[in-house]
Amino acid sequence: MSKLIGGCLCGDIRYEVDEDPAKWFSYSCHCRDCQYITGGSPNTVIYVPKPITLIKGKPLGYQSLSDTGTKITRLFCGRCGTHLYGESESFPGTIAIKVGTLDDPGIFKSQMNVWISSSQPWHYIDPNLPKAEKAPE
Ligand SMILES: [Zn+2]
Ligand SMILES: [Zn+2]
Repeated sequence: MSKLIGGCLCGDIRYEVDEDPAKWFSYSCHCRDCQYITGGSPNTVIYVPKPITLIKGKPLGYQSLSDTGTKITRLFCGRCGTHLYGESESFPGTIAIKVGTLDDPGIFKSQMNVWISSSQPWHYIDPNLPKAEKAPE
């Protein structure tokens, strides 16, 4: 078993996820909504099976609909605004951890680029990885 541990910038929220890396699914999302959240870059996430354990604090949630009508909930720190993780109707039973909130973001390895139809000209899209015009299947 491997553990993902992380938290927000101000330290009010800390979480951990116990899981087998073989069950993780990592990708970079280029959708327009994610660009707001990240500040412009693609959103780098690792999908892990639920649950997530909150060691400290409780994030706030913001719900919106993706371009394909899927309900997305984004969890963030009410004090520093860091987006920690998200939940999507398309992947029930999983949580998308935002790589930048991990204590060790260096473990991230993107397996796919999604929503490249909304990507900006300066976003990097690895030509060796699978890509999806919109949401992943
Ligand atoms: Zn915070
Ligand atoms: Zn996105």
